[in-house]
Amino acid sequence: MDLIYTSTRNSDEKATASQAILKGLAGDGGLFVPDSLPKLDVDMDTLAKMSYQETAYEVMKLFLTDFTEEELKHCINSAYDSKFDTEEIAPLVDADGAYYLELFHGATIAFKDMALSILPYLMTTAAKKNHVKNEIVILTATSGDTGKAALAGFADVPGTKIIVFYPKNGVSPIQEKQMVTQKGANTHVVGIHGNFDQAQTGVKKMFSDKELAELMDKAGYQFSSANSINIGRLVPQIVYYVYAYAKLYENGAIAKDEKINVVVPTGNFGNILAAFYAKNLGLPIAKLICASNENKVLFDFFSTGTYDRNREFVLTSSPSMDILISSNLERLIYRIAGNDAEKNAEFMRALTEEGKYMITDEMRAQLADFYGNYTTEEETAEVIRDLYEKTGYVIDTHTAVATGVYHKYVKETGDNTKTVIASTASPFKFTRSVMDAIDKEKYDSMTDFELVDELSKIANVTVPQAIEDIRSAEVLHKTECDVEDMPKTVKAFLNI
Ligand SMILES: *Cc1c(COP(=O)(O)O)cnc(C)c1O
Repeated sequence: MDLIYTSTRNSDEKATASQAILKGLAGDGGLFVPDSLPKLDVDMDTLAKMSYQETAYEVMKLFLTDFTEEELKHCINSAYDSKFDTEEIAPLVDADGAYYLELFHGATIAFKDMALSILPYLMTTAAKKNHVKNEIVILTATSGDTGKAALAGFADVPGTKIIVFYPKNGVSPIQEKQMVTQKGANTHVVGIHGNFDQAQTGVKKMFSDKELAELMDKAGYQFSSANSINIGRLVPQIVYYVYAYAKLYENGAIAKDEKINVVVPTGNFGNILAAFYAKNLGLPIAKLICASNENKVLFDFFSTGTYDRNREFVLTSSPSMDILISSNLERLIYRIAGNDAEKNAEFMRALTEEGKYMITDEMRAQLADFYGNYTTEEETAEVIRDLYEKTGYVIDTHTAVATGVYHKYVKETGDNTKTVIASTASPFKFTRSVMDAIDKEKYDSMTDFELVDELSKIANVTVPQAIEDIRSAEVLHKTECDVEDMPKTVKAFLNI
């Protein structure tokens, strides 16, 4: 029997996995969640010997039950190929007492590639399966990394167009350059005069705009989403936690069934939710450590039970985590509310109208496996410098937030459980901040690309292809718009 997905805001809205992937967001603004969480049905000794692709199949088949074995394996093998610069796909690096799970070996050197390299295949397979006639328009808001990874994934994919909105002054120079130089006749990139939350809210509004949907349908288009609200993003992210555990077991770093902790630098709560789903699959994970930067809404939520976005939005050196509305948290709220769509919808209404909500003690009790904390900008820089000086290993600013929070957690609890830190971006993507952290005085006067070469030297890592590619690439996208003009911009691109 197929696993059915239900909207977090309306228990009557149901979908199969492929329908949920096509829709992205449920009709009422809710997110699709599986009605039950499956269990892994292969043992660890078997998993330990599997490749990334084989592991992906074992995990994804449990969630995407209306895909045939052949379809799913085709999607997996097309996604996880030589676009990644290592056969391991997601290698583990042991540094200073923790295991860094490097999720940045894909085409755009950030962890978004882990899911966005497969989403276009899942989406086109789902379209075929559901006899979709319309062209699919991927509408995406990005805090920097999703945009490029989605553009790279969907560029020139037949039957699709992609439109990406990013905050004009809220991404790193390299992130912006990566996006505005994107090739592909079906790609569009827009810098908005606003922040990521405004971009995300604008995109969500267009998804639930019925008039716009009609207009689109008449012209032969329909929207879908490449944001982590799409379960087609979430499911591939569960894979690397299973894979990392199996590799640690295979290497003898952990014993059979030994529990590990996982630290995730968090923004939209997608990556850590995937870890939570992995734990529910039966993977021996003890604590899920949620790391935030100075936009510490989630830290406050875990410490008080109140989610409150009424606060100043801070631009930090980890821009992909500069988020005050963590969309995927809704999936967890729905679950701890007893899979009660009405109750969840009430919280989300409060979030929209008052900017905050408070969960009950009963709900809070179900969050015992989560630990939240944050690092300041200064602490983040210090972590990068210390780790480099101690080990020679250079991490990016987002990963450094996770490491900083990990240190705080160990200090607070004395818990010395073996720990995997999700390393979400290559330091080459945030070169300026990384090099400033290591030695501001020395590197301050260098250009971005001089810094790239310098980083390569000190870290003893070759410059990734993704960076080489943009050194001399031509800017192809120059559109900018105000937040309220986002629908107008979309209509202009589509000639509707
Ligand atoms: C997107 C992103 C994050 C945040 O991940 P979420 O799934 O949104 O919580 C962290 N680090 C980097 C580098 C990212 O690109």
